[in-house]
Amino acid sequence: MFFNYYLLRSCFSFPKLCYSLRTCPSFKLQASLKEFDFLVNEALISIVGQTLSAAEFQQANLPTYKAGIGLRSAEWSADAAFVASVLETADLREAMLGRVLAPPGMALAKAALSERLADSPVDLDTLLSAIPTEQADRSHGLSSPSPGEVPAPSAHPPPSGRRIQNILPQPLDEWGFRSLLETHPTGSRARLQASRRGASGWLHILPIKALGYRLAPRVVRAALRYRLGVRIFASSVSSLCPLCKVKPTLLDPWGDHAVICPCTGKRIAKHNRLRDVLYRFAVKGSLSPAKEVRLDSRRTVPGDIYFPMWSRNRGKAFDVMITSPLQPKFLVASASVDPFENVAALRAGEKLKDRKHFRDCEDEGIDFAPLIFDTFGGWSTEVSHVIRVISKCAAAKSSESCGDVRSQVEQQLSLALTRCTAAMILAIEAC
Ligand SMILES: [Zn+2]
Repeated sequence: MFFNYYLLRSCFSFPKLCYSLRTCPSFKLQASLKEFDFLVNEALISIVGQTLSAAEFQQANLPTYKAGIGLRSAEWSADAAFVASVLETADLREAMLGRVLAPPGMALAKAALSERLADSPVDLDTLLSAIPTEQADRSHGLSSPSPGEVPAPSAHPPPSGRRIQNILPQPLDEWGFRSLLETHPTGSRARLQASRRGASGWLHILPIKALGYRLAPRVVRAALRYRLGVRIFASSVSSLCPLCKVKPTLLDPWGDHAVICPCTGKRIAKHNRLRDVLYRFAVKGSLSPAKEVRLDSRRTVPGDIYFPMWSRNRGKAFDVMITSPLQPKFLVASASVDPFENVAALRAGEKLKDRKHFRDCEDEGIDFAPLIFDTFGGWSTEVSHVIRVISKCAAAKSSESCGDVRSQVEQQLSLALTRCTAAMILAIEAC
């Protein structure tokens, strides 16, 4: 199932049509694009295991950094792809043909793109007029050849097309995300913001079994449902969690309680798996980490991971914690569009851990920092800092680049969190 999703996202959906969309104006393809999107959505239904609402499909069509799962809609993106392609190839066409031709369909594609963005704050004309300016340097070295003359190789070859092709879809993606936010209630808005911010590394992993990068079909299904806000449990909002016997707790249909339920027996496993990913890469980087050490006689100083020499010739203890941005006390803040506000759960986790351990660590002459993750895969800036340091050290001890190692750390953290999140959902589903 994981492989099915990977192939669908990377090959059989939007990428399959890229060339056609960039070379043919969309008005010639409208009916085909609708049918293509329908078929992609049908394939997604077979992976998720249940039908989705229009809003859930819309989220799925967004790129992963906008809370989606990267199944870009061909119909939605066609005009941007064509307009970007025409702009990208203007210099090259002029150099080859000796004159500038207005490509058929360009005016219609621009008008359609403008219409799509009509209600968004983006002014398409301003955006388009800015792009050639950004790309002006690429025209150097490209001169129009005389008829019959073979163009000389350029000192500045034509761009790969990635820049404008990347710039143009951004307002469309942002507008798609904003329009979802505006039509959702607070709880769903908080989920969207958390998914947008959260690590989506597991959605980009090449599912190679030998590397441990495979997820069981039911895990993929549960994880995708949770990310897309699909109703996971058939229960109504007022039903009780079947596992929380001592302190009865409401079980919501979307899995928000399930992923933090203390009675699934998976919370500690989730914590330990995240810790172990960081530990493994720290060992690779020869940072001499220690796991679960108690650093003082009173055994109050935590050491999920302890580094005897971190900075300023001092040791540093890190404590891992996972929090949910959908807890009632954080819900309104988590739904905010303010990037400082919507990380309230992460900041509260840091404050909590600092209050508990910072002073004790100081007394022992060591530094302390909490490493806070959220249930959607987001993490605090301190986690990002630790990932950077560990990746740099691990890369220095190997033949891999720092960026490659960092990407591995992030993907493995995302994968570990996703496995455990799905396991918690499945534990309750099995009751
Ligand atoms: Zn429970």
